[in-house]
Amino acid sequence: MSLFLPTVSVGKATDITPELIRAMDANAILLDVDNTLALHGSQTPFPGTVEWAKHMRKAGIRLVLVSNNFKKRVEPFAAKYGLPFLSLSLKPFPAAYHRAVRRLGVEPGEAVVVGDQIFTDVFGANWAGIKSILLVPAGMEQSLSFRLRRALEKPIRRKIKEKGCGSQFTK
Ligand SMILES: [Mg+2]
Repeated sequence: MSLFLPTVSVGKATDITPELIRAMDANAILLDVDNTLALHGSQTPFPGTVEWAKHMRKAGIRLVLVSNNFKKRVEPFAAKYGLPFLSLSLKPFPAAYHRAVRRLGVEPGEAVVVGDQIFTDVFGANWAGIKSILLVPAGMEQSLSFRLRRALEKPIRRKIKEKGCGSQFTK
């Protein structure tokens, strides 16, 4: 069960502050794309996220996008943020996260995975030995496999709420 629990749980990406990342003893974010920064497949960033990314970087937090989606989806999107990216990352397998921390020049212990999915972002982070922040998914996907994953997430999200995951950082 604990492999499916994030270090911290917040509502959306823009709720994350440099102070929160520092309180987690980190200085880098490995950032999911779909339903974290935009609706699935959309090139339109969620309001405030471009400015948020800029603010985080100004505060000394390093950022890289880590997406399972195709290069042709992620590359133009990353350009809007001026961020490096990894596409076709095969999350939850840890290889891309390890590549991402090397790309940023940090240790795994200094990084935080941020994403909306328990079975890819959170499980992958735990597998890679990296801290994580789980977001509330912003959009509802239509495909059956996605709807199934969201249904399987439900009891875990309930447990996260009960445990108050990461409230020691956010208070
Ligand atoms: Mg996602």
